[in-house]
Amino acid sequence: MKRVAIIGGGPIGMEAALYGSVAGCQVTLFERGRIADNVRSWGYVRVFTEWKRNRSPLAVRLLTERGIALPPEESTSTGDELAAYVRRLAELPELRGCVCPQSEVLAMARERTLRSDFIDDPRRAERPFRLLVRGPGGEKIVHADAVIDASGVYQRPNFVGNGGMPCPGERELKSRIDYAIPDIEGRDRARFAGKSTLVVGSGHSAASTLRAVGDLFESSPQTRLVWAVRRDVPEHGDPYTLIPEDSSSTRNALHTRANELSRDERVDFHPRTVVDAIAPAGKGFRVTLLASTPAGQQSTQVLVDNIAAHTGFRPDMALYSELAVQIHAATEAPYRLGRALVEANHRQGVGLSTGYAERPQKSQEKDELEEKVVDKWRFSPNDPALLQTGEKNFFVLGIKSYGRDAGFLMQNGFRQVRDAYRLLLADAALDLYQGALD
Ligand SMILES: Cc1cc2nc3c(=O)[nH]c(=O)nc-3n(C[C@H](O)[C@H](O)[C@H](O)COP(=O)(O)OP(=O)(O)OC[C@H]3O[C@@H](n4cnc5c(N)ncnc54)[C@H](O)[C@@H]3O)c2cc1C
Repeated sequence: MKRVAIIGGGPIGMEAALYGSVAGCQVTLFERGRIADNVRSWGYVRVFTEWKRNRSPLAVRLLTERGIALPPEESTSTGDELAAYVRRLAELPELRGCVCPQSEVLAMARERTLRSDFIDDPRRAERPFRLLVRGPGGEKIVHADAVIDASGVYQRPNFVGNGGMPCPGERELKSRIDYAIPDIEGRDRARFAGKSTLVVGSGHSAASTLRAVGDLFESSPQTRLVWAVRRDVPEHGDPYTLIPEDSSSTRNALHTRANELSRDERVDFHPRTVVDAIAPAGKGFRVTLLASTPAGQQSTQVLVDNIAAHTGFRPDMALYSELAVQIHAATEAPYRLGRALVEANHRQGVGLSTGYAERPQKSQEKDELEEKVVDKWRFSPNDPALLQTGEKNFFVLGIKSYGRDAGFLMQNGFRQVRDAYRLLLADAALDLYQGALD
């Protein structure tokens, strides 16, 4: 029986544990905090994909067989509700004794084998993996025949500074900057109501914070937003390109609201702008913004009470630095998948990260552009070979597998789980979802 160690108890790590257990493997899942800890950290945010996309056919079958009622397929949940669902999976009999919360994987390697040993030599794959795990009882070594790293990226936000590196002042003020989505409707309200906030970025997190702060405009009229976006506004004039007949009404509403806010007089909107320096100013910040204009670089200073840095995330590669994993230079995803993601982005005329970081080419018509944005979200690599990392039986799955690319959806992760076990068990037909994801 194959021993499979899984790192991370988020939606995809837990799915990998469940799938592996049902497929006959001896699985052990290590979660450094509480189950679904990353999702819980943004638990007050509503996800934009509906339940039918956030749970797998296997999980639905097992939960239903146990008489557990599930929310309607078309409804959406908060992060907290999603985390509760992942906890329910952990409690299924199939995973009894397999899930270790409060257990952090600190490092891993092959037994008696350095990264540089046995390259392109089958003897490398014969050595079991060894993982250093810090749990409630202290540190210990765990051995496994296969490892699935589904440890996510949320714990490693990008810097807000120009070029993705810290700008002057950022490192000293890091603890006062919001890199995670603040709970503006709840415990963080007083920090934002009647205050000025700089939001940096143009992904879903930025749109969520913009909407939450914008909702305070009426009740706290002094509330103000400064919004800096490094890319240009598309030719249709809105920061977000809406997806026609978007399957997610939550996403559509979020982006529509952010587009409205870019034109609101209480919002100081800065496209083509990066953060060049941050300095303390009383309890707030003095931020130097650098805009790219036809006349050259133009510097502006703004005084704000808060900075919401929604500039994406990066994977922690140190965890597998002793394994022979090939990394893609731009995405920092495992090489094959990273290259496929970049190729798909290029086909669609978009850059990395949130939909498109670079301005689409001028020749593109609006319809064509919208079509490409739709494709961005529909792109789901469906080829087990893309999961090969260079280190046999070591897989990076879930949002971490996309590295810095923000296009990951849980549904892509379920396909990855299926494909990883196909490779691991050398059974190309294995599909515990019974074709439902094809
Ligand atoms: C605000 C927000 C909204 C989102 N909305 C959607 C949506 O609508 N639809 C969608 O598909 N996706 C959405 N996402 C993306 C979403 O986060 C992922 O799809 C999903 O959580 C990915 O699951 P995962 O298991 O890969 O990673 P995560 O959920 O990040 O889980 C990783 C887990 O690994 C644990 N871990 C980390 N390091 C270690 C270690 N060394 N040892 C042990 N455990 C470790 C973490 O504590 C964490 O619990 C959203 C993300 C954000 C931030």
